[in-house]
Amino acid sequence: MINCPCGSGKLLKDCCQPIIQNQKDAITAEELMRSRYTAFTLADVGYLMKSHHSKTRPIKEKKNIKKWAESVQWMGLTIINKTEGSAKDTKGMVEFKAVFIENGKLDHIHECSLFEKENGKWVYFKGTHQ
Ligand SMILES: [Zn+2]
Repeated sequence: MINCPCGSGKLLKDCCQPIIQNQKDAITAEELMRSRYTAFTLADVGYLMKSHHSKTRPIKEKKNIKKWAESVQWMGLTIINKTEGSAKDTKGMVEFKAVFIENGKLDHIHECSLFEKENGKWVYFKGTHQ
């Protein structure tokens, strides 16, 4: 039994895994955000592409993203703030901090991520670093 890397306190199989494995849709923008963090920890770049809005999807960066995700050690995710992004919304913002070790050094990403629904499903639109 593996705890979910997203830090929800749930088991991976009851949290992000069914979303990543396409057995369940993310109901909220936060759930999608968490599943994308977990996909980063698994270097599941296929899911990272799939959960990215088609207009902003970084297809050309796919290999580099995979390489980078595999090269860092993921230490945890903190959700700082969120607006909208509930089941009934079509847009949402999640501000988060993700901590990782890269080349032996502790580093982090602090980002405001924008999510939108595309074909009725939450996808990542873009982010701005804080
Ligand atoms: Zn999770």
